[in-house]
Formats: sequence, structure tokens, C-alpha cells
Amino acid sequence: MRAAVSREVGQIGIEELPDPRPRAGEVRVRLVSSGICHTDVSVLAGHLPSPRPIVLGHEGAGVIDELGPGVDGLAIGDHVICSIITSCHACFQCLRGEYALCERAVGFSGTMLDGTTRLQSGEADVHTLFCQGSFSEYAVVPASATVKIRQDAPLDKLAGLGCAWSTGLGAAIVRAEVRPGSSVVVIGAGGVGLAAMMGARAMGATSVIAVDIAARKLDRAKDLGLASHTITASGSDAVDAIRDLTGGRGADYGFDAVGAPGTLETALQAVRPGGLAVAIGVMDATVTATFDLFGFLMQKRLTGTYAGSILPQRDIPAFVDLYMDGRLPLDSVIDATYSLDQVPKALDQLAANEITKGVVLL
Ligand SMILES: [Zn+2]
Ligand SMILES: [Zn+2]
Repeated sequence: MRAAVSREVGQIGIEELPDPRPRAGEVRVRLVSSGICHTDVSVLAGHLPSPRPIVLGHEGAGVIDELGPGVDGLAIGDHVICSIITSCHACFQCLRGEYALCERAVGFSGTMLDGTTRLQSGEADVHTLFCQGSFSEYAVVPASATVKIRQDAPLDKLAGLGCAWSTGLGAAIVRAEVRPGSSVVVIGAGGVGLAAMMGARAMGATSVIAVDIAARKLDRAKDLGLASHTITASGSDAVDAIRDLTGGRGADYGFDAVGAPGTLETALQAVRPGGLAVAIGVMDATVTATFDLFGFLMQKRLTGTYAGSILPQRDIPAFVDLYMDGRLPLDSVIDATYSLDQVPKALDQLAANEITKGVVLL
């Protein structure tokens, strides 16, 4: 099979590798498409440490073509989304329903759940990002991360549900459980922020205030019918503008989809007493935040979410149903499609912020 392999920081090329085979508890997916996510760019650039060689890509969508031993509930021919949540369903956190926080998650190790790889190049192991490596023709994926979806849903359009879109949707729908009629602030109108706006809208939010320093992104949020108001500002200017739009009170919910210094503070300052601020992303692991204690005495709440806190097998099919019902305009944020050969160019364009959501068609 062909796959996009990174052998050193900053380098990625298309190579021919032996087809992978699933082991116990795994399936093989013939990939139809893969979303391109900022994490792929970060791993390629070496900002997130990862072993090499590695096949990048972690938003796979495709069709199961082989089952490993002991796989229940999935069948050859099933249409699936490959989630980044590779839960074991047996550890302390999984037993509490916190699949996104599974203690046996592989992180950036590049291996499968048992610590080994399914790909080789000559004698050397080839790693895969988040138990997928979806910039390839086939991926072996843990059954626990493989989510069956309805056959009439377009596999070439929904791969983003493997990571970025589920993160934004889950933040609003699962983590915050946005209430109907509420006001919502979303800081950052990129792919994840737009998905958070869609999730809030699907839950019945009637006022969605999008905040970004890029007017182009805000125009898009408005054109898509997601943002009711847009604010091209940051920090206290943004907070003042949000208060003006919310009766001087602040919004019910604030989502920070940026994670730069100061953005989570803005989200918390922008919510009303008793409101909820949610951290969805972080630009790098060293970013810290500082808050006034008084806001918490006013019963403001602050939390975060990893991967949208979703239960993949419960929530991704629900997101697909909402999409098919016309209530989540997910595919309208796709602004570029690529062949496998164009993956290096696609990652360059995402790194340069030239695209919001790219999809590789395999
Ligand atoms: Zn991702
Ligand atoms: Zn677990």
C-alpha cells in the first residue's frame, strides 16, 4: 500500500509499504478519506515528540475489510470513522465512562495499544499516529476506536469526526451540555471553533458570538449561519464587546478554541456570574492562565475537554445523524481536498493557515 511517511522532523514523503494485518481486537480499514488536523502539522514540525518513521494522519474514514480475532459488533463492509479516542474499556477512567481519559491511551508513542506496530519498512518498524496513520490506503485500528456509522453517510466528507470536529462538537454538546436559548462565546473561528459553534447551535443556542483576530474567519462563521455576532478583537476589548451584546452580564458559555496566552482568561471574563468557560485547545503545553478568584465566588465555572469528552460509539453516530438531518453543516467548512501524493503540500498549507479544513481523498 501507499502511505505518507515522515522519517525525520520536517520531512514527509509517499512510500510503498507492506499492507498491515489486524491482530486481536483490531480491524483493518480501507480508507476512503482522512481529515488533516493541526496535530499532524505539529508532529511533522517536531513540536510534539514522536518516534520515526511514522505514518501521519489521525482522522480516518473508510470501510472495514478485515477483522482481527475477537472483534465483536463490527463486520467486513461496515462504514467507519476512526476516532483518536483509543480507549481500553477496562482501566480506572474507562470504568467511570471517561473514555477520552483512558489510562492506556497510546498518546504520541506511535504504537498500537499493545506497544507494537503493524507496519514495517525492511526490518524497521513504522509507527502510526494515534493507532491510525490515516494518510495511507489501509489502517489497522483498535476496534474500540472504530465507530460504525450509517451506510448512507458520505465517507469522503465526515473524516473530521475522528478528531477536530468531534472535539468542537463534544465541547458544546457533551462537556458543556449547552442549554436551549443560551448565549455562547467561541474564541477562535478555525475548524474546532466552527464545530463548537455548530454544536451550540444544534443544542439550541440562540446567540453565538464568534471572536477572532482574523476577519476572514469571522466572515465565514457568519456566512455559514453559525455566528449571530462577530468580534474582531482580543483581551479586554473583546470582553467589553461581549458584555455589550449580553445585557452587560456576560454570556452563558465561553469556549476557548485557541489556547494562546490570554485566551482562556478572555473566555472566563466573558461569561456571566454562574457561567461556564471551557478550554478546548492549547497552542503548546507550556501555556499558563491566571484568574481573579472573585469570579469563582460569583460561581463562574471553568473546565476543559479532551477530544470533546465524547464516547465515540455513542456520540459520533449521533453527530452523523445531525449532519444527515441538515443540522450540522460540517462539510461546508472543507475548503480543500488533496490526493495522497499532495499530503506534503496540504500540511504546508495548513501550517501557513491558508486552509481551514483539508481532506485527503484516498
Ligand atoms: Zn487532530
Ligand atoms: Zn482505559
